[in-house]
Amino acid sequence: MVVTYIGHSGFLMETNSLYFLFDYYQGEIPELKREKPLIVFVSHKHKDHYNDEIFDILKRHPYVRFVLGKGVSAKFRTMLFMTQGLDLESRIIPAPKNTDLEIISENGKFLKVTTLRSTDEGVAYLLYYENQVYFHAGDLNLWVWDGETKQKNEAMREKFLKELEKLRGLHIDVAFFPLDPRLENHAFEGMELFLEYTDTEKVFPMHMWGQYDIIEAFQKKHPEYAGKIMDITRDGQQFTLLE
Ligand SMILES: [Zn+2]
Repeated sequence: MVVTYIGHSGFLMETNSLYFLFDYYQGEIPELKREKPLIVFVSHKHKDHYNDEIFDILKRHPYVRFVLGKGVSAKFRTMLFMTQGLDLESRIIPAPKNTDLEIISENGKFLKVTTLRSTDEGVAYLLYYENQVYFHAGDLNLWVWDGETKQKNEAMREKFLKELEKLRGLHIDVAFFPLDPRLENHAFEGMELFLEYTDTEKVFPMHMWGQYDIIEAFQKKHPEYAGKIMDITRDGQQFTLLE
């Protein structure tokens, strides 16, 4: 399997028989093999997670499906594409929170998707595919800030742990989870809890706003997770993982 870090929280994951694209908003999407179906996931509509240019992929890649978190609308593009003879509507799969979706790809592959509720907006995605489990958190993280009231931070912690509880003990092969330097003293806490609650094999940190040295700092603090935390150093970086 090849994982391409496109930028911020955007990743392309290529398995033997399917592509998965997560939270693309800018940067270069690697060239896609036309015969291999693609499933695009959007966690929510914030502009660092979503760009409606993703729908243009349909023009060059016929086997594409778009799984859209709450608040992401394809209405405008659907109408525009209709005038161009392209059926976008049938390619859209809405993804409300706390829902199970079953997707059968054009090449007959079965994918189960479970959504969690983000602690910010939209959803996080848990994917079950060919004996593998993948997780993309979107903006599901422990957003506690030094300048925030204790009450608000506690409410956030409660909300976050409620979602993590759903993942308790779960074996996850590949995860994508925020490590946001803006949280300063609290930047590691979400990731630490995520790794404590789950049995995650490999995790790609994301939402780093280009400050990749935070990964090294996390690794230094947590030698027990050596080999689990993927070393992202630049946009466009590719990682080959054994399935
Ligand atoms: Zn974000």
